[in-house]
Amino acid sequence: MNTSYDMVICGGGLVGATLGLSLAHLPLSIAIIDPTPSSHRATRTDDRTFTLSLGTKRALTTLGVWPLIPAASINAIRRIHVSDTRGGFGFTHLDAGEIGVEALGYVTESGALWDALRAALARTPITLITGTVRAALRRDGRHDITVDCAQGPQTLTARLLVGADGTASAVRALAGITVLRRSYGREALVVNCGVTRPQRDTAFERFGAEGPLAALPTGRNQYTMVISQRRADDLLALADTDFLKRLQALFGERLGTFTSAGRRLSFPLALVRARTPVGDGVVLVGNAAQTLHPVAGQGFNLGLRDAAALADHVARAVKRGLAIDSPAVLAAYARARGTDTGSTMAFTDRLVRIFAVDGGLAATARNVALTLIDCLPGAKQGLARQTMGLKGPVASILRGVRP
Ligand SMILES: Cc1cc2nc3c(=O)[nH]c(=O)nc-3n(C[C@H](O)[C@H](O)[C@H](O)COP(=O)(O)OP(=O)(O)OC[C@H]3O[C@@H](n4cnc5c(N)ncnc54)[C@H](O)[C@@H]3O)c2cc1C
Repeated sequence: MNTSYDMVICGGGLVGATLGLSLAHLPLSIAIIDPTPSSHRATRTDDRTFTLSLGTKRALTTLGVWPLIPAASINAIRRIHVSDTRGGFGFTHLDAGEIGVEALGYVTESGALWDALRAALARTPITLITGTVRAALRRDGRHDITVDCAQGPQTLTARLLVGADGTASAVRALAGITVLRRSYGREALVVNCGVTRPQRDTAFERFGAEGPLAALPTGRNQYTMVISQRRADDLLALADTDFLKRLQALFGERLGTFTSAGRRLSFPLALVRARTPVGDGVVLVGNAAQTLHPVAGQGFNLGLRDAAALADHVARAVKRGLAIDSPAVLAAYARARGTDTGSTMAFTDRLVRIFAVDGGLAATARNVALTLIDCLPGAKQGLARQTMGLKGPVASILRGVRP
């Protein structure tokens, strides 16, 4: 096995795989390290669906991934109904037609997306190593990286080490990059539920005392429900029939009756941001760099834009004959990501906080905000463009070209 690479990507999840695919055509030797050996990971352990933005669809199309996702695993959202379950008159509709786009987003099964990324990677020269990065030491301009593999520890070397290893990033810790972290004091419970009156193309975002509740249409008679709760344990412990009754009470009758519930999974909710996305020969992307509340379905969409921007900076360095790990290249990448990361994090955080406060004045402000958004087409377009990932400079793969 080759042990010397230009770039090692620690983490072959959604963002690490996207980064690898964005760079695979360049004259670089790249390895991706992930403990998950092969396909179907998500279908076995993760029943989530993700809302992918228009920008993400474009990027995945450029990389040849989108056609590999079975059509039955993708459903276009054309309307989003946003409301407050604590009464009042405020609600808003976002409508793809009003904004002049084909869809506001695409609900995609995470397992199908994972498999498509892995299938696309298998067609590239990138080396996929099954293992866990345990240590990394930078000396003489290269990292010595220790990987725990089934057959024992292996040492690799790389010029550039990318941390695409999620919220608890080992690379971030090894590089000594600290984080700003704030817990929302809530957990997200995710479950796929059958309903009697599905609206194929409409997603719902309802804000209640416990936090937001999202209902994402899968295109069948099923919705993925993402429920924010102080303690998900209570909902996890209920028998299916009792759980469905609770869900019905929380969501109401708009989708008819909830008839079935799949596996229930819970995730802690926190806002985490690395103080910097770059270190000495190190870059963080995706959840390793920032983790968001899932209220607006932005985490992967934002992480993909990290990968897309990093691919542009690395490609430019290669074309100019510069070292891909040079401080100037990494600093330029960090500068380029500042605005998008900051505004997307602020947008999702504001959404959660505006709707978290109970009480008369807060309720009035919320309802006025929702009604204003509904009445002002400009506000709606701003909201939609933010969530579609098309604000600010757009990286190559989101424009349909490889860097
Ligand atoms: C309930 C919920 C709903 C969500 N819905 C949406 C949505 O609709 N749309 C959206 O855009 N985002 C959504 N997100 C966010 C999205 O899940 C994440 O932003 C995205 O998965 C981050 O991808 P990643 O590749 O950066 O990290 P991860 O998906 O965490 O992948 C990290 C990878 O690194 C590997 N790894 C970890 N440690 C090591 C190590 N030491 N060595 C080697 N490999 C390692 C792991 O095995 C994993 O494969 C949601 C999140 C939650 C919790």
